[in-house]
Formats: sequence, C-alpha cells, structure tokens
Amino acid sequence: MVENLAKNLYRIIIPLPNSPLKDLNSYVIKGGDRNLIIDTGFNRTVCYEAMQQGLNELAIDLNRTDFMLTHMHADHTGLVERLATDSSRIFFSRIDSQVFDEENSWQPLIDFAEINGFPADELQRALHSHPGFKYSPARKPVFTLIEDGDIIECGDYRLRCIATPGHTQGHICLYEERKKLFFTGDHILFDITPHIESWAYTTNSLADYMDSLDKVYNLEVDMVLPGHRNFLGDLKSRIDELKAHHRDRADEVLDVLGDKTMNGYEIAAGMTWDIDCERWEDFPIAQKWFATGEAIAHLRYLESEGRIHRDTSGKIVTFRSVNGRQTG
Ligand SMILES: [Zn+2]
Repeated sequence: MVENLAKNLYRIIIPLPNSPLKDLNSYVIKGGDRNLIIDTGFNRTVCYEAMQQGLNELAIDLNRTDFMLTHMHADHTGLVERLATDSSRIFFSRIDSQVFDEENSWQPLIDFAEINGFPADELQRALHSHPGFKYSPARKPVFTLIEDGDIIECGDYRLRCIATPGHTQGHICLYEERKKLFFTGDHILFDITPHIESWAYTTNSLADYMDSLDKVYNLEVDMVLPGHRNFLGDLKSRIDELKAHHRDRADEVLDVLGDKTMNGYEIAAGMTWDIDCERWEDFPIAQKWFATGEAIAHLRYLESEGRIHRDTSGKIVTFRSVNGRQTG
C-alpha cells in the first residue's frame, strides 16, 4: 500500500506477519537524480514483495536509490541488502553498525540473559525465535556511516541526523527543518510504546531514552513520521506521555519487588504486559525475552537512581529495594 504524504514523499506499508508491531512504515523520497528509502522491513519474502509492489507503483529505479536505516533492528534493516544496488549508499549509524561485525555474536546476550534468571533450557529456543536472528540481512551491508548532526540530502529534502540513543544505542532520527517533518524511527511511536531493553549493565538504555526524548522536545514539527503505525496527536504531549509511562513502569518494578530479593526474569514475570496471554507461562518465548530485557532496563535505571541494589555475588544477579517495602 502506497500513500502520498507530502510533495515527493511517500509511505509504503510493509506487513510484519506475527509481529505485534503489525507493519513497518517505509518512507520514500523522490529526489529527481536520486531517491531515498528510509527503513525497509524484515528479510522475508512477504516484506520483499510488498516493497517491490510499492516501488513499482512509484516507478522507483533502485539504480538511482540510496537508503537510510534509523536503527539496527531487523524490521528496519532486514531487506536493505536485497534492495541495494552497486550505486546505492546505505546511511547507517556508526554505533549500531557494530552489531553487524563478525566478531559480534549473540553469545554475550545469551550469557547475560542466563545470569538474569532466564531459564537455561529456554535460551536457545529464545534465540532462534528472535526476529533479529531470523530476519536480519544475510550479509553485512556496506554502510555509509553517519553521526549526530550529519546532513543527508535528497531532492529538496535536507535531513539532519539526530542521535537518539535509547531504543537502540545508535538510533538516529531525521529532521527536515524547513518542511517541519520529523522521521522518528522507533524513538517515538504513537499508539504503541517503543520497546526499551538493556542486555548489559554497562548500558542504561532507559536513562539514555529519557534524555533523547528531551533532546527532541522543542523541535518545531508539523508532521511526525514514525517507524510503525500513524502520527496521532502532537509531539510534545506524546513525549510527556512516554516519560510518564516509563516512570510508572519503574514504580511497577518496585511494587513487584516489594521487600523480596528477585532476579530480572522473575521481576519481568510479575509485571503487567500488553499481550493476549493470561499467564506468563503462556507467553511466546520471544515475548518473554523482550519482557526480560525491558525489565532489566528499568532495573538498571532504578539502580542508577539509588532506589534498588544489585547483588552480583551469586551465579544469578538479584535485586532488592534500597528502602525495603514501597507503599502506594
Ligand atoms: Zn526497533
């Protein structure tokens, strides 16, 4: 499905079957000499066919097309390698590009999940059902690396890269100042909440995310172009909602913890999740993985605020509230 959003700007909706995200917004700028495609969909046939159909409708010549990927997740990067031609530049964050390096394996994430209480016998199954494992590009693409403040030009669009770490460490949004357009990737979504996870105690994803929300709060924006679903309401009130949501979630973690000592997986199991399952035991394994990563991001955040204590002396990392039981 193709939609014209502004002069020379289009959206192709790419289906993401079996994903709670439902679909991905791939944005296409027709630039005369060269075109730009922002985000691509999973490396799956169903995504490839939807993209090809949209590009045909728009008469896009891939030999004159560049790509920009907002962040490393497979629903944004997966197809790029199948679409890019020899002349294509693929603009991508220097930080997120590191996950495609050969020496960068999934093993540290698996080990980290295990010391956070994720059942050892479920870890391989969790890995093999992870969309990043199944639907990433088959080979590392050749990237044109970008950083905060870089400008990408296409036709009369002048896009400023804004580093917005949080959803991923290298996440980049694009701001078109004259047209007051803001491509937010997965940094700001409207009818769903961006997933924030941590898979190492050296990163404090949630604190980074809150700072990155503040960083874009005062941009003058008429239209937000998110990576999934639609633009609803306005930017500032959505940022206020997202910040309140994560503060509430951090409080929920403290409630689940109470005066107990618990590991990250147990805390995730005790939190409420917007998913069609009554019991934690019935969650699909990939959702347990995402929930655990999100619980750990909130634990790391609470730890940095001095509200909980992390104990790494045993085989499994545990947490307890600094002030004992929380009330209210
Ligand atoms: Zn994402």
